[in-house]
Amino acid sequence: MWTRTAPEPSELARPFWEGCNEGRLLIQRCRTCGTFIHHPEPECTRCRGTNLFFDEVSGRGRIDTFTVVHRSFVPGYQDITPYVVGWILLPEQRNLRVFSAILGEGVTARVAIDAPVEVRFEDVAGFGAVPVFELT
Ligand SMILES: [Zn+2]
Repeated sequence: MWTRTAPEPSELARPFWEGCNEGRLLIQRCRTCGTFIHHPEPECTRCRGTNLFFDEVSGRGRIDTFTVVHRSFVPGYQDITPYVVGWILLPEQRNLRVFSAILGEGVTARVAIDAPVEVRFEDVAGFGAVPVFELT
């Protein structure tokens, strides 16, 4: 159990977090044109359609960019430095990215641009599951 600060989900993002609690990475998608949208929006970012749903993605991706945090001012994170956060490119659509912690044994030495990663879910005290990515 992770004692970091919990997310504060918007109503739009609720299905994303419900998916996390089921161990599934769900990304908002437009039924009209098929575009994935992240973060969730009230209308499609491509066709402005409002017939949106949450579709399960593979949970695999590649690191687009990252940073190694050596000094953190965020409560719950000071005791886990150094740690890595970054943008993960998902293969389901060009430029579809999620921001995440990147974890794993020796990750600060092994992390690299374009490295393959896979999602897993961590329980945050008082909240539920949050997605994190691990180097594969
Ligand atoms: Zn659309």
